[in-house]
Amino acid sequence: MTSTAATLEIDLGAIVANWRAMAARAPGAACAGVVKADAYGTGAVRVAPALAKAGCRDFFVAHLGEALEIHPALPADTNIYVLNGIAADECDLFAAKGLIPVINDRGQIGLWRGAAAKAGRPLPAVLHVDTGMSRLGLTVAEALALPADAFAGLDLRLVMSHLARAEEDVPLNAAQLERFRKIRDRWPKIRASFANSSGVFLGADYRFDMVRPGCAAYGINPTPSQANPVAGVATLSVPVLQVREIDRPESVGYGATHHVSGPTRIATIACGYADGWLRTFSNRGRAFIANRFVPIVGRVSMDLITLDVTGADVSVGMRAELLGPHLPVDEVATVAGTIGYEIMTRLGRRFARVYRDPA
Ligand SMILES: *Cc1c(COP(=O)(O)O)cnc(C)c1O
Repeated sequence: MTSTAATLEIDLGAIVANWRAMAARAPGAACAGVVKADAYGTGAVRVAPALAKAGCRDFFVAHLGEALEIHPALPADTNIYVLNGIAADECDLFAAKGLIPVINDRGQIGLWRGAAAKAGRPLPAVLHVDTGMSRLGLTVAEALALPADAFAGLDLRLVMSHLARAEEDVPLNAAQLERFRKIRDRWPKIRASFANSSGVFLGADYRFDMVRPGCAAYGINPTPSQANPVAGVATLSVPVLQVREIDRPESVGYGATHHVSGPTRIATIACGYADGWLRTFSNRGRAFIANRFVPIVGRVSMDLITLDVTGADVSVGMRAELLGPHLPVDEVATVAGTIGYEIMTRLGRRFARVYRDPA
């Protein structure tokens, strides 16, 4: 056997091509790279510089820690925005590294203005306004009520908001757009950003000055009611550790949730819920091996999954695909009752990661 570890191959070329395709759909707008959650599980330290090389200048992460991780890997003429905002004890680090906080409440405006006064120079900031998520950002009313000099001492670079149901054709999208337009009109000289991946497909009105596609860059379909306009970027291949020949009634795995009655072959592969292959795949998911699909049988355990490979030409050391060309991420997610975002962001740390560079 060549290896007992699963291999996760990340196609950086596909990520860059997907990002370029999204940029092409938003002519006239800048196209940011959303690399939070380790670039949706694909590896932000590899993905961010690849996107920068392709011309991306704006990068969104959720946490300060994520910003610090990609900062050394990016050229100096790029911007890193931190979506989760800023706290008092983080101001010095933000200022020193040139990171840009996404300001989510009035208190953070005060904090960051204080930091700018201390630094003796205008510090860059993004204003986030909540137009329909009830999550982060100033409310529209709070934003419109800000005094004219609210950002004195700061370099306000962007006003942004986030869509709640952009992948659906629902009235909420237009309602959010109308609210965001009020914000745009209040700061007409500041660049505006509204659309995530799905928002880019809602039309030119939604694109403003910068779009923020995340999922589409990573191969998740941003238009779930239509064919996927982007390509898959990850292939997970998992070695068979053992093949068990069973010739009489027997149960498989924890809880004995699967029973075989006659001659059966069970292949045990090196991936489990600790690697992000959710326990909800128990007795539900499938793998592709020896040119065919085979079912996951029994419970997914921490480190192992059992496949029924009866009748398939499977032996130890062969690899089963759990995600990849035969098993696209959206399809896999549906089986587990979740979304592609969750499958991607949970991809495990124990896989041997192989990166294919852009051509
Ligand atoms: C995650 C995120 C995005 C990217 O969304 P996708 O649906 O993955 O394209 C854009 N903007 C904000 C504020 C986000 O949190």
